[in-house]
Amino acid sequence: EAKQLFSAMVSELNKAEQIALCGHVMPDGDCLGAMLALGLALRQMGKKVVFYSPDPVPELYAFLPCADEIHVELEQQCQFDLFVSVDCSVPDRLGHFQVLLGRAGRVAVLDHHTGSVPFGNTYLNLPVCAATGEIVYDLLRWLPVLVDEDIATCLYVAIVTDTGSFSYDNTGSLTHLRAAELLKLGVKAAWINKRLYEEKPLVSLQVLSTVLQSLELSGCGRVAWMFMQRDTLHRLNATDEHVDGLVNYPRLIKGVELALFFREIEDGKYKVSLRSKYYLDVNKLATLFGGGGHPRAAGCVMEGNLEDVKHQLLQAALPFLKDE
Ligand code: 5GP
Ligand code: MN
Ligand code: MN
Repeated sequence: EAKQLFSAMVSELNKAEQIALCGHVMPDGDCLGAMLALGLALRQMGKKVVFYSPDPVPELYAFLPCADEIHVELEQQCQFDLFVSVDCSVPDRLGHFQVLLGRAGRVAVLDHHTGSVPFGNTYLNLPVCAATGEIVYDLLRWLPVLVDEDIATCLYVAIVTDTGSFSYDNTGSLTHLRAAELLKLGVKAAWINKRLYEEKPLVSLQVLSTVLQSLELSGCGRVAWMFMQRDTLHRLNATDEHVDGLVNYPRLIKGVELALFFREIEDGKYKVSLRSKYYLDVNKLATLFGGGGHPRAAGCVMEGNLEDVKHQLLQAALPFLKDE
């Protein structure tokens, strides 16, 4: 059955001459890596490819091959016959590039989120994959493409970031096998990992130090959360990219099952990141508030003041926590 999905995607890609690829708002290593890898492969096949991202590429990912070719603004004159949505569970996550769904001749979707609603003409969503990069890895085996070091690097970054360096529950034996093949193809894994995790700007640690001050633990000890207000972010001269990943800190605490991070995105609006450790389905929890994601990592946007938003989420989380 997966075979049929892949061959449908392959014929869609083969048919198209000019292809637009687009990832999700607040891009991460998976949507960028998967999109660039696929685009580089399609270029080898002689296709004309444009890359789109609804938000700027974080400085962290600027080292990815062709990252500088990713357009953040929509150019009116740009023509294409296929639009490929990469790593987006819902059209909403394409941000302002959603308008292209109506403008493109055909739409193809590559994704790995749980419980997302199909859209587009060709829909390839495999929640069994830890990263969209894994799906692209498999897809490339169907295409007349040589996976060079650039493509392999993009795929490795996609996989290593979405698996928390191969540590999350989503990491399977196939994840490691694909990564091993990528290393054989010349990926400099140790160098990439230092680029990703040990070349942070000083401000990232200043943000961390500030955010840790906001850490709170529920009475039962199973939920921990932190928050970041916009004025604090501005005061530190920091941006969204310096906040990314901080939700992992409250999860480090012994006994914590659910970690939350509340980031004020505009007045009275919070982006909530949800992470769980052993069992809690944060995808389901986030869905209650119009968001989604994966069983152990999900997100949603909530309106209200911080106290309200926090209270609503904590109340909703109670039935998800096991009695001990
Ligand atoms: P993060 O907390 O790192 O922003 O997101 C974690 C996961 O949840 C990602 O896989 C992302 O796709 C998903 N996610 C984050 N925010 C939203 C949202 O507002 N809506 C939906 N549907 N998914 C989200
Ligand atoms: Mn993603
Ligand atoms: Mn992903």
